[in-house]
Amino acid sequence: MYELRDVTKRYTRGKETVDALDGVDLTIGDGDRLVIQGPTGGGKSTLLQMLGGLDRPTSGSVVFDGTDLATLSESKLTKVRSENIGFVFQSFNLIPTLTALENVETALVPLKVQGRQRRERAAAALESVGLAERLGHLPAELSGGQQQRVAIARALVKQPKVLLADEPTGNLDESMRDEIMEVLESLWKEHGLTFIMVTHDSTIAKRAPRLVTIRQGRITVQENANS
Ligand code: ADP
Ligand code: MG
Repeated sequence: MYELRDVTKRYTRGKETVDALDGVDLTIGDGDRLVIQGPTGGGKSTLLQMLGGLDRPTSGSVVFDGTDLATLSESKLTKVRSENIGFVFQSFNLIPTLTALENVETALVPLKVQGRQRRERAAAALESVGLAERLGHLPAELSGGQQQRVAIARALVKQPKVLLADEPTGNLDESMRDEIMEVLESLWKEHGLTFIMVTHDSTIAKRAPRLVTIRQGRITVQENANS
């Protein structure tokens, strides 16, 4: 699925340069489940952005399904992203004026899924995260945990090959954190999709088949034989 070779990402601000990623090699197979952890500023989000084609490496290659994302034009990259990659962020990024159903439907617009089919797929995705009763609610009428579940449904509705989640429970209080982790864990088990999550949740990290730790832009990978 992914083949990262000697990926570096250098940010320059005035005279200061930061190697957010410093020679990362990583292979991720179809259906792999991977947790990324490490200290703040270590490069976790930068790595996720590379995997998601949201940004380009300074050097090195990020091959996704046989294509080096770094070589794609902006429009081709957008197409790869909208068809194959689902994102969940710490901030839910829902459109406040759209209902839960409409927010989820937005992910199907670039795929040209329309009308009743679009509504039905969006409703089914919301049902799969336990929100069947909340289709017509606006984000402001939902709890934080429910809003994040809408965002998860939006990421999954296009049936992506990969789900990328960057600290998905970072903005939630403890009870909602558990709620979201339960939803993610059950999706993680039920779907065959490749699942890459940045999290500080040590319970999840312990159960992850592969744990990537990133510090100062360099990774170490641990395989967990027990999961
Ligand atoms: P993490 O997600 O692990 O907290 P990040 O990937 O966000 O870490 O950041 C890694 C390093 O790159 C940090 O030192 C951060 O300050 C720097 N960085 C991230 N994004 C930018 C940017 N757009 N411009 C300049 N520096 C950045
Ligand atoms: Mg981050």
